Amino acid sequence: MTHQPPLIDRGRLAGLTDRELRRFADGHPVSADLFARGQQSLIGGVPMPWMMRWASGIPPFAARAAGATVTDVDGHQYADLCLGDTGAMTGHGPPSVLAALAEQGRRGITTMLPTEDSLWVAGELGRRFGVARWLFTLSATDANRAALRIARQITGRPKVLVYSYCYHGSVDETFAVRDPGGATVSREGNVGPPVDPAATTVAVEFNDLDAVQKALADGTVACVLAEPAMTNMGIILPDPGYHEALRELTRAAGTLLIIDETHTLSAGPGGCTAAWGLDPDLVTLGKAIGSGVACGALGISGEAVGQMLAQVDADYEDTGGIGGTLAGNALSLAAMRATLDTVLTPDAWDRMIPLATRFRRGVEDVLLESGLGWHVTQLGCRAEYRFQPGPPRNGTEAYQAADSGLERYFHLHAMNRGVLITPFHNMALMSPVTGEADVDRHTAVFREAVADLLAGP
Ligand code: PMP
Repeated sequence: MTHQPPLIDRGRLAGLTDRELRRFADGHPVSADLFARGQQSLIGGVPMPWMMRWASGIPPFAARAAGATVTDVDGHQYADLCLGDTGAMTGHGPPSVLAALAEQGRRGITTMLPTEDSLWVAGELGRRFGVARWLFTLSATDANRAALRIARQITGRPKVLVYSYCYHGSVDETFAVRDPGGATVSREGNVGPPVDPAATTVAVEFNDLDAVQKALADGTVACVLAEPAMTNMGIILPDPGYHEALRELTRAAGTLLIIDETHTLSAGPGGCTAAWGLDPDLVTLGKAIGSGVACGALGISGEAVGQMLAQVDADYEDTGGIGGTLAGNALSLAAMRATLDTVLTPDAWDRMIPLATRFRRGVEDVLLESGLGWHVTQLGCRAEYRFQPGPPRNGTEAYQAADSGLERYFHLHAMNRGVLITPFHNMALMSPVTGEADVDRHTAVFREAVADLLAGP
């Protein structure tokens, strides 16, 4: 006899969500007031439209964040498993990084002059990712934009291959999906695309090597821009052998391989590139490597650097389209150096990964006890549950299986009980200063949320 998971009573879910929304509003008068006042001067009452996504409707305004704890303006403390959607993977304000920032602040924030820290950071990233040369940006988005430009410049080809429902920052070429007929079309809601994405992009499904092979066949694809595991539609792991085959196909086609490790740095000190022995031509990073200070890095392999430098008509020094005034500034490099030297050191993952395993097991236990049988995926110090029995193989499957009602309820329920998880999907990230108690708090709250959901009328 096959076991049937309990059905979700949607009426009950709606009632519980309303109950939790009222509880949140009642407990957050100061945030509610700031949010109302913000409507006069900010788009949506928040400084950045994403901040409207918090399940509580009213976002909790932050008063301070330290270590793995956020405190809001109403005095509530949260075990922070969102960690600024990876920007604060170090934990908030590691003392060694704060000291380095204060020191660098006194010595100059930005001068348009190189600092010695840039050599140190490039050397360290080079050792971790096995990529020879680096340049710095202010965000992972910018690192990806630069990578695409460089790849097009080197190859002389127009197109970029991405996965349906990927996310690499606000990079024009990436807001494309493959439609059921196999055509590349704009992703729903794409704001002001400069041209039809089909002109710049080929979208394929993750884990579909045949589609990659076909897309590369006509010689128009400059590069593949890939997260080694997708992390922005929940975590989607590659099939065994996927990356070896991807590397072979890209090499055979003369297409460069860009690996975006912004989130997958969760897998280890050298991301999936080191953990899985990948051999990318370019690597992009950001957010976490500066403890949240604006920064990004683009690594370029020796061969690609040679091609880059041989093309003397490409203007990398001035208005050729790479860089920004504040890119590579002294403060951001001091942040990266201190972060890599003292916080995100290899032994940090020895603490963080077991915490993510504890998170995964805690959630799995609840799912087993309740009979819900949903799925949890872990990638190093990052873990994520989803409301399906098994993992999706690609972004479209994940997109179609999303359940915004359940997502909102679980997030809100957790927020009301002092736990933050990232507001998009159900990701929890561990920092070196996250404690077992933070993880266990989430497990207890998750257990309560499931019990409330499945309780009789
Ligand atoms: N790459 C990946 C894989 C990301 O998930 C993100 C943002 N979540 C980015 C790049 C862009 O990062 P940022 O918004 O900090 O530029």
